[in-house]
Amino acid sequence: MEEFNLEQINNDWEQKKSEIDQKIEVLDKKRFAYKDYLQLQQYIENIEGLTQDQLFHARLLDIIQKRSILKLETLPEFKYALEKLPNTSKEWRTEMLAHENAHANVADKLGVEHFDYSLIFLEGKDEEKLYIPQASHINPEMIEGWTKQRQNEANLEITQAPEVYGGRLSESDKKEIEKIIMEHK
Ligand SMILES: [Zn+2]
Repeated sequence: MEEFNLEQINNDWEQKKSEIDQKIEVLDKKRFAYKDYLQLQQYIENIEGLTQDQLFHARLLDIIQKRSILKLETLPEFKYALEKLPNTSKEWRTEMLAHENAHANVADKLGVEHFDYSLIFLEGKDEEKLYIPQASHINPEMIEGWTKQRQNEANLEITQAPEVYGGRLSESDKKEIEKIIMEHK
């Protein structure tokens, strides 16, 4: 059995924190505009069979996400990163932590594997610093052996989780809920 080495764990944590600090410093300086990001997202939404032009926009969105994202494996890392974000209020950070944790908890509870937390760094009007937090889990529709109904219910429950935990839903949560309900009426 591997020995439980507290000192090693502590060193790893210090190392992880300095990595997060460095990444925040880099991402903070190079931000894409939030409005471009939204436009791209709307453009490729609800599209069956992407055209060449749409594929190009999907690729652009992918690039923006990859260049602007900070990924955090665990809740303590996510909490640490939130506290280090420039220009954020304590209220906002507390709300985001609870919000994404609610999504992740419910996913875990339902047996839908949760991967990680992330923050996308963008820029709003008048150079305002914007962050889009996210908790990622596998798409329930990819789970083999589950009925369509079970997949949909899991999807819905994970998306609604923040509200059940006493918080608010984000605009993208609301959109996602509408979409799930529309598609499975
Ligand atoms: Zn949400």
